[in-house]
Amino acid sequence: MSASTKSLRDLLRVKPGSKVRLADIDPNETHGRVKGSSAAELRTGLARLAALQDRLWAEQEHPVLIILQGIDAAGKDGSIKHVMSAFNPMGCTVTSFKVPTPIERGHDYLWRVHQRAPARGEIAIFNRSHYEDVLVVRVHDLVPRNVWSRRFEQINAFEELLTSTGTTIIKFFLWIDRDEQKARFQSRLDDPDKRWKFRLGDLEERKLWDSYVAADEEVLRRCSTDAAPWYVIPANRNWFRNLAIANVVADTMDDLNPRYPPAPEDLTGVVIE
Ligand code: AMP
Ligand code: MG
Repeated sequence: MSASTKSLRDLLRVKPGSKVRLADIDPNETHGRVKGSSAAELRTGLARLAALQDRLWAEQEHPVLIILQGIDAAGKDGSIKHVMSAFNPMGCTVTSFKVPTPIERGHDYLWRVHQRAPARGEIAIFNRSHYEDVLVVRVHDLVPRNVWSRRFEQINAFEELLTSTGTTIIKFFLWIDRDEQKARFQSRLDDPDKRWKFRLGDLEERKLWDSYVAADEEVLRRCSTDAAPWYVIPANRNWFRNLAIANVVADTMDDLNPRYPPAPEDLTGVVIE
C-alpha cells in the first residue's frame, strides 16, 4: 500500500519491538493533510466520535482507555480540550496524573492508575499516566535503575491484564521539537491568560530534553504491543495533532462496533396513556 492510501492509524502506529528514533520523525509532518480543510475534517471526526461514544455508553460492554504522554507543552491538555470534547461527559473520565501524593506513594505505582481505569462503556482519558514512572522518575533518578528498569515488563503485564479482560487501550505520544516548546513556553510567559501554566521548573526540565527523548524512545520500543499500541503524533501543528488523534480513536472505536442494546423488557403492545 502506498503511503497516501494508508490510514493515519497505520502510518502513526509504532510496530511492536521496533526502534523509534524520534529525531527521524518530523514533528511538522502532516501526511498529506492540509490546514485549509482541517477544520471541516475535524468536525467530521468529532461527529464520528460523538456517535460512537453514544453507542459505546449505551451498550455498556467495552471499556476504552486513552493515554496521552508528551514533553511539557506538547499539547496533552489541548488534545483533551479540542478532541475529547466530542464525548458526552457522562461516560467519560479524565485523570491528570501529578506528582504522587503521600498516600499514592505508599502504594505500588500502578495502584492509583488501576483505580482510574475505565469500566464497561466508559472512556477513560489519562493526561500523563503510569509511563511517568519510567520517564520523569528515570530522568530524575527518583528510584534506582534496577527498580525502574523492571517496570517496562510490569507495565506490559498490567496493560495485558486490562486488554485481555476487554479494555481497549490507545496510547498517544505527542512529539514536538525544542523550538516549538520554546515558542509555546514564550507564549505562556507573554499571555497573562496562559501564565498559570508556566513553572520556573519547566526551564530546568527543558535542559533535560535529551534524557527525556532517550526515555521516551525506550518506552516506545518496549511498550508498544498489538493490543496496546503507541502512536507517535507529529504535534508541532495543533490542527494536525487534533485530526490525527480524532482519526485514530474513531477508527479504533469503530472496530469495537458498539451497538445500541435491545430494550431490556418486552415492549410489544405497550401504550403510553
Ligand atoms: P502538569 O502535567 O504540568 O500538571 O505537571 C504534572 C507533573 O507531575 C509533571 O511534572 C510530571 O512529571 C509529574 N508527575 C506525574 N507523575 C509522576 C510520577 N509518577 N512521579 C513523579 N512525578 C510525576
Ligand atoms: Mg506543566
